[in-house]
Amino acid sequence: MTNRVFLDWSHWSAGSRGSVATVTQRDSDRSSVYAVEDQWGQILDRGGDLDFFGSHLHLPKQRVLLELAAIQHYVDDLLSQCAGDLSVPVQVRHRRGVTRAHYEPRPIAAIAIPIGVAWACREVVILHELAHHLRYQRASGSLHHDEGFRGQLVTLADHALGPEAAFALRAGYLGAGLGVEP
Ligand SMILES: [Zn+2]
Repeated sequence: MTNRVFLDWSHWSAGSRGSVATVTQRDSDRSSVYAVEDQWGQILDRGGDLDFFGSHLHLPKQRVLLELAAIQHYVDDLLSQCAGDLSVPVQVRHRRGVTRAHYEPRPIAAIAIPIGVAWACREVVILHELAHHLRYQRASGSLHHDEGFRGQLVTLADHALGPEAAFALRAGYLGAGLGVEP
């Protein structure tokens, strides 16, 4: 079965996203980034074949990791693949409430997720927070959803979900007028 995606990203709201990071006034792309990732996440909830601007993509179905140890292992594994000379580990911890996940750089770098809550334990949410970690460590403490963040998330998606999922994310950003740092 082929899903058709209409790339009028402006019609997507960020209502189901639920993930936050520390935000300043300069984090002007945040809501647009959430909207793109919302749709990307929904596509990966189903996986399968996709017509995409005339390209045929076969997308994986993203995993849902409901246990803390499984998320920690997933994050550690990706860091060992993607971090290069960056050796700062990140700890996964349970977050109270069910509506948000976040990344906190201090006192210990941590990804806080409501463990056991299905939407929050999806790969797209974990990857978003891990991208914050890598970006924070590499870009002098930036927690913005800027070009560098988006480039980092595309790289992580390539490692974790494959090149077609990464392509779809990049295309979604660009379709929304959001640049991606190479
Ligand atoms: Zn974020």
